[in-house]
Amino acid sequence: MSARILVVEDEDRIRQFLQRGLTFEGYRVESAADGQEALELARDEPPDLVLLDIMLPGMDGVEVCRRLRSAGEVPILMLTAKEAIEDRVAGLDAGADDYLVKPFAFDELLARVRALLRRAQPTQPQVYRFADLELDTGTRRGRRGDEIFDLTAKEYELLELFMRHPRQVLTRDVIFDRVWNYDFGGESNIIEVYVRYLRQKTEVDEKSRLIHTVRGVGYVLREE
Ligand code: CA
Repeated sequence: MSARILVVEDEDRIRQFLQRGLTFEGYRVESAADGQEALELARDEPPDLVLLDIMLPGMDGVEVCRRLRSAGEVPILMLTAKEAIEDRVAGLDAGADDYLVKPFAFDELLARVRALLRRAQPTQPQVYRFADLELDTGTRRGRRGDEIFDLTAKEYELLELFMRHPRQVLTRDVIFDRVWNYDFGGESNIIEVYVRYLRQKTEVDEKSRLIHTVRGVGYVLREE
């Protein structure tokens, strides 16, 4: 079964071009001209990948991205205008997996699409490793050295986020988005609480700290 791609673009010419080109490549393509329509289509039948223009009427691409991301793990490739670096950053912060600057070559777009679909493939359990820390997505348990530990649902999600982005500073906003989906306000100390839980579990027997606080910003998984 070929992958299903949702194209979100308000400019008719570009949307039709993408739809034709991707269909020709063998993908099943659906398209939406605005964010609302896109979210409805994605809810009715979750796509395998979303191609999302950042400049949309009404709800912009960043907001659409945020909402898609809080609903699931679908790969999102953002299309941004030339030189709009802030858009790019906002898109990545909102959970986009990759971005492409307009105007782009169709071959380049295809290469990115293939890479994202390939990356999304392993729905089989896998084990993330960082230093002597492991996280098994199948059993949803962690291990540090010889010590295996259980995780609650939120602890697991938070640790998985760190393991997927080693050495990257994750801002509090990004952590809220990905793990709590805006259920809590920015004033809440919920992140601190869960980081403390994870440290208790990963620092048994005075093992070195791996989840570090970046003051005023967020947290990072790294070895000192
Ligand atoms: Ca547009």
